[in-house]
Amino acid sequence: MILKAFQTLVLAACMSALGANAEPLKVASLHPLMADLARQVGGEQVIVIEIMKPGGDIHHFEPAAKDLAAMRGVRLVLASGKDLESYLPKLRDSLGSGIQIVEVGEKIPSIPATCHHDHEGESAEHHDHGVDPHWWHSVENMKRAARILEEVFTEAAPENSATYQAGSKAVSKRLGDLKNWAKKEISIIPRDQRQLVTAHAAFGYFCKEYGFQPLSVLGIGRADDVSTKHIAQTIQTIRESRVKAVFPEDQANPKVMEEIVRSTGIQMGAPLIADGTAKEAHTFESMFTQNVRTIVTALGSK
Ligand SMILES: [Zn+2]
Repeated sequence: MILKAFQTLVLAACMSALGANAEPLKVASLHPLMADLARQVGGEQVIVIEIMKPGGDIHHFEPAAKDLAAMRGVRLVLASGKDLESYLPKLRDSLGSGIQIVEVGEKIPSIPATCHHDHEGESAEHHDHGVDPHWWHSVENMKRAARILEEVFTEAAPENSATYQAGSKAVSKRLGDLKNWAKKEISIIPRDQRQLVTAHAAFGYFCKEYGFQPLSVLGIGRADDVSTKHIAQTIQTIRESRVKAVFPEDQANPKVMEEIVRSTGIQMGAPLIADGTAKEAHTFESMFTQNVRTIVTALGSK
């Protein structure tokens, strides 16, 4: 009995010396895609607590008291950044200085929020769109994000650095393969057909990476108060530029899209996953592959 206890002790000491017994880093995530990436980079040396879960709405989410309680024991809180989580200053105050909030998208190059409608007669407030927060629709951006997580994880738990480095490297390789696959799939869509009409303005980064022209109906935050003037303009643009299909969204109200389809007679594609929160696809890989397949099915030459 004593010998066994001694053996266990020696074994534990050895494992600890090798770093195999190092404590996993505890982090909280405010976006399902950040949770997925954290798990991929951190492997067994990270514990991810999902505050904003799949099925939620990233544009209208605010942490409740139970969420704050769940964040208490973590070292890092992973936010998507680029002003998506407008509640971050308040959250910072509530959590105090012991917990670091990492805005993963902060150092990722921004593109301006897409805006296609006529500004005449609209208030200045209405057309100050800032930057597009949906940076995660780009493979290159996700690679950057993996390296950012590797850095912040290593800083917080240097004893696990080898795991984080290997994780980040593996993610980068998988994403590279995924981008090659996407480029090959998309290559069957003629250049003049690469127009992506979506419900809300979430696909700017995707469009930039794969040579599409984005056109959105509902703006950045998926607001439902779209003006009839903007709908009429969208219909006119669709007719003029001979758009082949429009794409509704997993979370947006389909009414405006249905109206556009009725007026133009163009094809309604399958829904796209715009915010990475779909219950059936809330990892980057599942969201991205589903979106690419949906777009290629509707716009690919037949
Ligand atoms: Zn969005």
